[in-house]
Amino acid sequence: MAREFVFFSGDYDISDPYLNLERGTLPASFLLDSNALYGDGIFEGIRIYNGRIFKLKEHLGRLWNSAASIEIEVPYTREGLTDILKALGRKNDIRGTGYIRLVVTRGHRLDLGINTRKVGRPTVFIIARTLQLYPEEFYEKGLNVITAKTRRTPASCVSPNIKTCNYINNILAVIEGNAAEVPEVIMLTTEGQVSECSADNIFIVKDGSVLTPPKDNILVGVTRNTILDLCRRLGIQAVEADFGPAEVYAADEVFLTGSGAEVAPIVKVDSRVIADGRPGEITNRLLAAFREEVDKPENSLPIFD
Ligand code: PMP
Repeated sequence: MAREFVFFSGDYDISDPYLNLERGTLPASFLLDSNALYGDGIFEGIRIYNGRIFKLKEHLGRLWNSAASIEIEVPYTREGLTDILKALGRKNDIRGTGYIRLVVTRGHRLDLGINTRKVGRPTVFIIARTLQLYPEEFYEKGLNVITAKTRRTPASCVSPNIKTCNYINNILAVIEGNAAEVPEVIMLTTEGQVSECSADNIFIVKDGSVLTPPKDNILVGVTRNTILDLCRRLGIQAVEADFGPAEVYAADEVFLTGSGAEVAPIVKVDSRVIADGRPGEITNRLLAAFREEVDKPENSLPIFD
């Protein structure tokens, strides 16, 4: 692999924030970072298409909201952070498809406790690499998923709109998915309604209408919002409403959305075949429209000016 740079800044003694991933060294004091000890940070996963960062404004908006919710002050302006993302993209020569992982943590702890007052300034680290995430077969044939027994952490405990680095709830669900040899899992709320997948939002289609769970129990995905916009533009009725597993099994179509997965059809849930077991017509229309969307210059920012 060609040299890959990552960005790292915080309360650590480091001369150049652009580190070589293979040969660069981090100070051992990073082990005392509140994120390393407690998952005390927030993140964004952002796509790059044709060397352009997709929907950056939306991702930065969500990052700032997550930060405010957990009382972290992002140590850059949005413009400053955008410049860093572009510089890293240029250093890694990302001209095609890529992925950015942007992490902001509470920072370097002064002790081993959890008091948020005993922490230095926030740490920011960024990975940006060339990537093609899912095989084309996923889109052509559709995915097989299960419903996890692990319920999604209720909003009364942690707001789902904090995109926290603490993904243990979702990881427990992924462990169930691994045992069932499926690539994604559906997570229910503690009340038994469908919320989302482990790292994606979920939609069903019934009688020509698109349905997706409301905002209260999900991470509001940037891709989800793009799909709801596209439904409006394409004249497809779209409703944000609760539904349970029975409605999923009886749906005409099921699909998931996420920055990594884009729009991926689901054709089997808990071993029930959805409709005729093939990606549905509305799903395919939305996937095609989404792929047009990622190519529109107004939706993205070039890494190379
Ligand atoms: N839900 C969860 C739990 C996620 O981790 C993600 C991925 N960030 C999503 C939904 C989809 O969000 P987006 O479309 O912004 O990637």
